[in-house]
Amino acid sequence: NPALTKIGAQMSNLTGVRAIMKDIVETLQASQGQELINLSAGNPLILPEVEQLWRDATAELLASSEYGEVVCRYGASQGYAPLIEAIANDFNKRYGLNLTSRNILITPGSQSLYFYAANAFGGYDIDGGLRQIVLPLSPDYTGYGGVCLYPEALIAYKPTLDIDAANHKFKYRPDFSQLSVSEQTGCIIFSRPCNPTGNVLTADEVHKITALAETYNVPVLIDSAYAPPFPALNFTEMQPIFGKNIIHCMSLSKAGLPGERIGVAIGDEKFIQVLESFQTNLCIHASRYGQAIASRAINSGKLVDIAAQVIRPFYQNKFAVLENTLDAAMPKDLPWFLHRGEGAIFAWLWLKDLPTTDWEFYQELKKVGVIVVPGSTFFPGLQEEWPHKHQCLRISLTGSDAEIVSGMQRLAKVAEQVYQQA
Ligand code: PLP
Repeated sequence: NPALTKIGAQMSNLTGVRAIMKDIVETLQASQGQELINLSAGNPLILPEVEQLWRDATAELLASSEYGEVVCRYGASQGYAPLIEAIANDFNKRYGLNLTSRNILITPGSQSLYFYAANAFGGYDIDGGLRQIVLPLSPDYTGYGGVCLYPEALIAYKPTLDIDAANHKFKYRPDFSQLSVSEQTGCIIFSRPCNPTGNVLTADEVHKITALAETYNVPVLIDSAYAPPFPALNFTEMQPIFGKNIIHCMSLSKAGLPGERIGVAIGDEKFIQVLESFQTNLCIHASRYGQAIASRAINSGKLVDIAAQVIRPFYQNKFAVLENTLDAAMPKDLPWFLHRGEGAIFAWLWLKDLPTTDWEFYQELKKVGVIVVPGSTFFPGLQEEWPHKHQCLRISLTGSDAEIVSGMQRLAKVAEQVYQQA
């Protein structure tokens, strides 16, 4: 084995969700013959209308004189100009903004954006002080866990729980009595809608967070990978929120282009320039083919239409199937709570006072042919022990209706047994 630096070792660690994904892949490979219901995937399904949209945009690109310019040449680090222009025009019209090209950066997927931000704004400053990367509401996207070259900089805050006991529903809220922003804060990141919980922070909650950050000129990255206008995976009314210190971060992945790796940052020029320089050093620029087809799909208005008319209802219906099945199948006297399904492509189930851990529950579910993701991997940055961390499961909405129904019925049986045995 090669000798690794501290950072090298840290980056090669199979942590959190990557360790579980490895277990899931091995389980699927070993299953030979046994039908497994896999509700673990974070990969969006290929919806025919969405695939057609990208196929058509590709055909147009191939037939145009633009093709060679797109794939046979390097471009600007900031991104492919027609895509930047398409986003600026669309957002200015849609949200009444005054964006210029200097407010926009295109990155190879939005994951890279969080990596740039976490290390440009978080970590050790020139005086040796530690600047924190703050996740104001834990649980949140597991991918934030690996982006810090100095992991000690990442800190997350426990939420408060808004519980509707009679209906077995709940919702996380940021705990403003705990959340602290100071000159030690480097940046703030949260997803809205949230992976894994489907939570959508209210506009009020977002404004409270950004107001705290503004005092110290701290950038707030609002991870809008599931937000409107595309992929529009919000099932509750929400509007994107822009502001002086907000970096609005988007992704084309859930709009059908995860393979092309396209992320977008929109914000004040002074933040965008920092991220752009980071990108130049790392990879020069994002792939231009995906950017060229995305610019066509945005300019034609088709991407926004398909998001609202196809992508959103598809997953919203999956959530309803899951919710109805659990309501019918779960024993009424068990303390189970489904997080309000406000968006994204997952359901988040909390099994309060679970007599085992989420990991053991995941193993029990595997025995009845159902795979979900144990919830404890979705608390990056939250060091403190909290039983709740081991009482949750993330269930992907990417199964067929029949798989979701059967999977939740089996889950209800396993839950009943596990609580009974205690
Ligand atoms: N943010 C959230 C909340 C996600 O769920 C994902 C992917 O699942 C990402 C960011 C990363 O997306 P990408 O790098 O494909 O844009």
